[in-house]
Amino acid sequence: MKNTFDLTGRRAVITGGSRGIGAAIAESFVEHGAQVAICHVGDEDGVRALNQRVSSRGLSVHAASCDVSDPVAVTAFAQWTRSVLGEVDIVVNSAGVGGGDRPFSETGDDDWDRIVGINLRGTMLVTRAFFGGMVERNHGRVINIASQLAYKGAPGLAHYCAAKAGVVGFTRALSYEGAPVGVMVNAIAPGPVDTELLRSHSAQWLDMKKGQLPIGRFGTVDEIAPTALLLASDAGAFYSGQTLSPNGGDVML
Ligand code: NAD
Repeated sequence: MKNTFDLTGRRAVITGGSRGIGAAIAESFVEHGAQVAICHVGDEDGVRALNQRVSSRGLSVHAASCDVSDPVAVTAFAQWTRSVLGEVDIVVNSAGVGGGDRPFSETGDDDWDRIVGINLRGTMLVTRAFFGGMVERNHGRVINIASQLAYKGAPGLAHYCAAKAGVVGFTRALSYEGAPVGVMVNAIAPGPVDTELLRSHSAQWLDMKKGQLPIGRFGTVDEIAPTALLLASDAGAFYSGQTLSPNGGDVML
């Protein structure tokens, strides 16, 4: 049987690809034959660690710094990406930041704008930079990393939950424009995954959260990356507008 998960010849952009979920997706994509460019903010150590891991297999990942909430930076990143990869087939929007468990009444405009700006507006800006080219070529994949909190909500995280629910809505709406011309737009809504983002919560919050999970533990980044590989590859050709949920059973849709 043909390997339908093969990405040979595909060119992928992964935002927030220096560590955590984005880095695991980058690693999986290059292992399956894709050429990959990532962006991050101030995480040269993460980029070095990622390239060290893949270099043992003769592979590498291109990397640049780019704040996805800044339209000027995103335009420059898209130009740079085309110069190193050529036209892009796959965009994974994984860049994201968590909130600080702050009650809504104490959430200022700056906090709200930062969280929504990176998680939702950043997803839109990066998608927009590549979507037109995919439509012209009648081929492409957009994979947005949302969160199960888009469905579930969480106290102290109104901005984050609103942004992630926005990512799910954006994904559904855009899929109607993409699917007729061969561009499949989907999302992934992970449950809690052991990354620096998760570890920024208090020990008390982490214990409480773990206790709520049917599976009794947090996920690993390697348990999320295969879902992105499915959606990026020929194996996922019939998915459009979906939000897949590797979440240990915490939310059932
Ligand atoms: P992480 O903190 O490990 O990695 C975040 C990555 O995003 C890093 O590469 C960082 O440099 C980059 N980044 C941060 N701000 C950026 C910006 N303004 N512009 C460009 N890049 C930026 O986080 P993670 O846990 O791997 O999260 C990845 C995605 O998964 C996020 O969208 C997050 O909301 C989502 N998510 C995470 C969890 C979890 O429990 N870890 C659960 C559900 C969803």
